[in-house]
Amino acid sequence: RKHLSTQRDSLFEGIRNGDRASLARGITLVESTRRDHQKQARKLVSECIKLDRPRSLRIGLTGTPGVGKSTFIEKFGMMLINMGHRVSVLAVDPSSSRSGGSILGDKTRMQDLSVADGAYVRPSPNSGSLGGVARNTLDSIILTEAAGYDICLVETVGVGQSETMVADMVDMFILLLQPGSGDELQGVKRGIMELADLIIINKADGALEIPAKLTRTEITNALHLMIPRRKSWNPKVVRASAVTGFNLERVWSTIETYFKKLGESGEWDGLRAEQQEKWMWREVTNLLLSRLNRDPETRFFAKSLESDVVSGQLPPGVAAEQIVDQVSVVASEAAAH
Ligand code: GDP
Repeated sequence: RKHLSTQRDSLFEGIRNGDRASLARGITLVESTRRDHQKQARKLVSECIKLDRPRSLRIGLTGTPGVGKSTFIEKFGMMLINMGHRVSVLAVDPSSSRSGGSILGDKTRMQDLSVADGAYVRPSPNSGSLGGVARNTLDSIILTEAAGYDICLVETVGVGQSETMVADMVDMFILLLQPGSGDELQGVKRGIMELADLIIINKADGALEIPAKLTRTEITNALHLMIPRRKSWNPKVVRASAVTGFNLERVWSTIETYFKKLGESGEWDGLRAEQQEKWMWREVTNLLLSRLNRDPETRFFAKSLESDVVSGQLPPGVAAEQIVDQVSVVASEAAAH
């Protein structure tokens, strides 16, 4: 036990001093599903949050596979580093829990950025549920901030559920599209578009230059029909090329303006406060569920209720209440141990 706490203290010191290996170990702890690790992780994150670092820019970035996310992050990240920023890249990968494979953040991507001094690129976690991964990401963000990273990019694949979660933990949400993706404006894509503060039409180079202009117009028109998410900002559409570097400075100046406006209006403060509260309640739900699930008697009890519900003998709401009533039983047993 003593050994463990000494280890944790040195981990905290390491992170505080910006040591990348310590940061990596800290995030591994945060991502672990082992209960003792989770306990240590909570302590570590609590210490890190107390450091009260200057507020970093938390930026979410999404787009379907192939749109150029990693190419963009590599190029844009290097530009930011050369400007003197310290950039961390985290990934929320909805594919990893199902297929075991990972679309995001693998080490061969972002070759320059992942070895650059001013950057920390985290390969995406490959276990745990989507909720778990996203939940841990907020803690991981806090650790990277404690390590002195002032810009945190959170990357995710544009396939649905994970976007909403990422949008709930970042200050700004960026959607990458490619020329000719005007038809993506329906369904899920539309939902994601509504979350975006900035839409980048990537690959605006070579033969795609003209189509990129058309797509920009289409997207801009579509945005006019949507209700803006922020009071102090209307979403912007910018063409860019991750390959040639076209407009990357424009992207950055747009991001800077965004944060200036949100800061001045007080909306940024409000956003952070709201998110913190939301994540607390999300975590309450998660913890309650996992406690109930861990308790063998509750599980057994729930199974029998479940069959009554399935056969139509018991209303679902009544069964749910009976299961939730087990919480006090589980809690008092936990206290006794
Ligand atoms: P991701 O799956 O979203 O991470 O996409 P990648 O970054 O792996 O890029 C997918 C493909 O698009 C690669 O072949 C890239 O070289 C190419 N690509 C990415 N950005 C650009 C760009 O700005 N212009 C052009 N022409 N190709 C690009």
